[in-house]
Amino acid sequence: MTNRESTILVIEDEAPIRHFIQTTLSGAGYRVVDAESGKEGLTQAMAWNPDVVLLDLGLPDIDGLEVIRRLREWTSRPIIVLTARSQEHDKVAALDLGADDYLTKPFGIEELLARMRVALRRTARTEAGEPHFQIGDLRVDLEKRQVFIAGKEVHLSPTEYKLLGVLVRYAGKVITHRQLLKEVWGPLHAEEAQYLRVYMRQLRGKLEENPARPRYLLTEIGVGYRLRVD
Ligand code: CA
Repeated sequence: MTNRESTILVIEDEAPIRHFIQTTLSGAGYRVVDAESGKEGLTQAMAWNPDVVLLDLGLPDIDGLEVIRRLREWTSRPIIVLTARSQEHDKVAALDLGADDYLTKPFGIEELLARMRVALRRTARTEAGEPHFQIGDLRVDLEKRQVFIAGKEVHLSPTEYKLLGVLVRYAGKVITHRQLLKEVWGPLHAEEAQYLRVYMRQLRGKLEENPARPRYLLTEIGVGYRLRVD
């Protein structure tokens, strides 16, 4: 997927930030559509079916979280939320509702473009339905359910594999503790954060060269985890 074919919808009420994003993304070859309010954003989303939505959580009319809820009724395309430092709690709620990632204001050009590339690659990979995942020395064969480090097979317990499988399915995306717990252990265990800590430690012990400084299984402090993709 080249930049030129990708349409990005920016929903942001603050004009300077909207213009900054517009200029940066247009310069990088993306087609940019923008909206100043939640309602306008939802209309534009319906009209353009954008490849990525950049969504400010603090909008003048509808709450950003409500915008995510309504978008997720019909599209699974990546949503990246734009948050202020004071909106930590909303950030987690946004991810729980199905947002893919977040950018904390103020952010720079490089950070914005990098997040964009990750989001678009995830869509491309999901649509291609690739049976393998590879990053650095780590390779996961999703068909045979085998995991390799530098070509050598690593044996994982069923739960460890399930956890890694969820991370691979959403590779590049931040997944909240609650989402991981629900997907691996089921909805009744969504609050059992200690399960996750124990299994993540085991998984890192098997897959990371230095589990204390992970290269693949990254911690998003106070939010969840992310499997690196570049
Ligand atoms: Ca705002």
